[in-house]
Amino acid sequence: MQVNLERIKADILELSQIGRNSEDHGIYRMAFTDADIAGKRWLIDRIEAAGLPSSIDGAANISATLAGTSDLPRVLVGSHIDTVPCAGALDGTLGVVAGLECLRCLKESGVQPDRTIELVAFSDEEGRFGGMFGSQSVCGQINPEMIATMTDMNGVSLQEEMSRHGYDPVAALDAARDPESLHCYLEMHIEQGPVLDRLHKSVGVVDQITGLFTWSVRLKGEANHAGTTPMDMRHDAFMGLADFAHEVPRILEENGSDRSRATIGKAQILPGATNTVPGLVEFALDVRDTSMDVLEDLADAFRKALSAIARRRSLMFEFEQKSLISPVECGDLIVKTIQQQAEKLQLDYEIMPSGAAHDAQIMGRMIPVGMIFVPSKSGQSHSPAEWTAWQDIEAGANVLLHSLTEMSSKPD
Ligand SMILES: [Zn+2]
Repeated sequence: MQVNLERIKADILELSQIGRNSEDHGIYRMAFTDADIAGKRWLIDRIEAAGLPSSIDGAANISATLAGTSDLPRVLVGSHIDTVPCAGALDGTLGVVAGLECLRCLKESGVQPDRTIELVAFSDEEGRFGGMFGSQSVCGQINPEMIATMTDMNGVSLQEEMSRHGYDPVAALDAARDPESLHCYLEMHIEQGPVLDRLHKSVGVVDQITGLFTWSVRLKGEANHAGTTPMDMRHDAFMGLADFAHEVPRILEENGSDRSRATIGKAQILPGATNTVPGLVEFALDVRDTSMDVLEDLADAFRKALSAIARRRSLMFEFEQKSLISPVECGDLIVKTIQQQAEKLQLDYEIMPSGAAHDAQIMGRMIPVGMIFVPSKSGQSHSPAEWTAWQDIEAGANVLLHSLTEMSSKPD
């Protein structure tokens, strides 16, 4: 059994026209915009054209079902079709389209799986409203207060946007599934990084999904005249940040793992004048690893470094933790199954972590999950330049197909 690449191609190219901006060539299908709803409608049409029943839950997640012969817990496969602004054609979409193709293949093969297989396209994976609304709803991590207060960056509320399209936002509470009814969750996704492309391997088998914490840090010194303040009499906040940035590689080396990442992606120097010694810097620190212990060690080390620098430079420092997402370990059995299928298909694969967050990370707190990566050309993603060679897409989709077959035929 093999996927039909032509059908995958046609679906990807068709969906990429929905929300496409003709000027920058980016796709704008942010959650619950008109384009996103048009994408959802397109998906329902494609599911029905395949002769599969479609359904939509309270969080506006779209599902397609291929009934199994038993009522054993079902296998979920999916991803998302919402996008960031000015997106490429594959982030999320690939997993949904490939999942649909797998369901079509299995249906055409005429062999009914033991377990029901359900394709899900989750709402708002890209976090327009701050979280992963669709998968969080399925996992029962949404409450009425969240529904009432979730807004996007422009202050538009989730409630307003859902109601505008005829959805009842409170119904998202009904989207929660009983973990006992679910066997596992599989997601195929573009890597969104350069590793597979550099290795010339067509498939990545994800073993861990990285966790992260983000801090907002303030270093306070004293703003003063750039000409009259002697170098040894300054409390230069920016110099504190410069010292800290310089220590990042050492801290990762000493306290991190080879999967650790730390980024200062945003900084503001205040008051921000050419002729003034900076009195305040505010910056964001984003730290990731696949182990919670390592994340905790890194947090300690970064705190100590900040404190030592502040003392040395006569600065004050404070930080606020903005987010903390724990790492997720993929299910052993699923990782092994994906690996075996890649071997059977004689594909060169790499066992690797996922550096980006995905619906699988949310689902992984409830049921065993697995992810299949395909290479991103030059590691580019979240831009119209995002691309993956068709033969890699075909290889990954075949691994997904055979992994699904395997996972849906095993008894508990
Ligand atoms: Zn994605």
